[in-house]
Amino acid sequence: MYLTYFNGQWTEGNVPLYGAMDHSLWLGSSVFDGARAMHGKLPDLRPHLERVISSADKLGLRCPLSVDEMEALVREGVAKFPADAELYIRPLVFGTDGFLIPVAEASQFALTLFDAPLPPFAGFSACLSTLLRPQASMAPTDAKASALYANSTRAMREAKARGFDQAIMLDADGNVAEFAASNLFIVAADGAVVTPKLNGTFLAGITRARVIALLASEGVTVEERTVGKEELMTAREIFSTGNYGKVTPCTRYEDRTLEAGPVARRARELYLAFTETS
Ligand code: PMP
Repeated sequence: MYLTYFNGQWTEGNVPLYGAMDHSLWLGSSVFDGARAMHGKLPDLRPHLERVISSADKLGLRCPLSVDEMEALVREGVAKFPADAELYIRPLVFGTDGFLIPVAEASQFALTLFDAPLPPFAGFSACLSTLLRPQASMAPTDAKASALYANSTRAMREAKARGFDQAIMLDADGNVAEFAASNLFIVAADGAVVTPKLNGTFLAGITRARVIALLASEGVTVEERTVGKEELMTAREIFSTGNYGKVTPCTRYEDRTLEAGPVARRARELYLAFTETS
């Protein structure tokens, strides 16, 4: 089921939101975020709502609702689903008026909730993309802007065409940035748990930050540093973090087979335990 809140009411189905003249349709002024409900628990909901407000600001839009208002709507919407539902929660802010530059005050808000079971802890395959994450001077990389996904989905299409599930993208300096739509961690050859240091080219994932904190609470320090692409060939584990799948292991990288390893497994368990407390 899809359920959307727009202009003061909840409606089921694929609710039309845009007009032919709307800025977001014409020039891509839309931002979104993705959170999850898992049997009524809402892990890190507020950071996701805070981020949609800041993403909107970065694009010259203005989210018309506060975090508290959005949270109340999310809770109202989640209560309309069965208690054990696993849902994707997608707040969206988009521009309507404006010729070239969007009129911030005319930004619109919509919130869509839909069934999306948490993927199992099963391995996925990934290849190295020929496409790069743009630098902060080339695209609104500090926002979760829909426009960025035009390139990320090109990378995914390229990966699919090569027979892989996912793409790993490098930054413009040739270092590992992230998967096309999730953050990347490795367990390096020396056993260190490592994730690329934030450098403004890829999303500062909320799940990434949560997993770093959860592993730290177990005494496992995650090194945030530059990761060279050659390290993907020697890593003991490669795994992804992101709202959709939370923690999932990459079990094939190019022609290498990897195990769904103990660090990824522990990070997933810790995340699920954290969910119960949220
Ligand atoms: N990078 C990209 C490009 C993404 O789309 C996502 C999913 N939101 C992530 C990373 C992971 O971010 P988060 O943990 O905040 O969902």
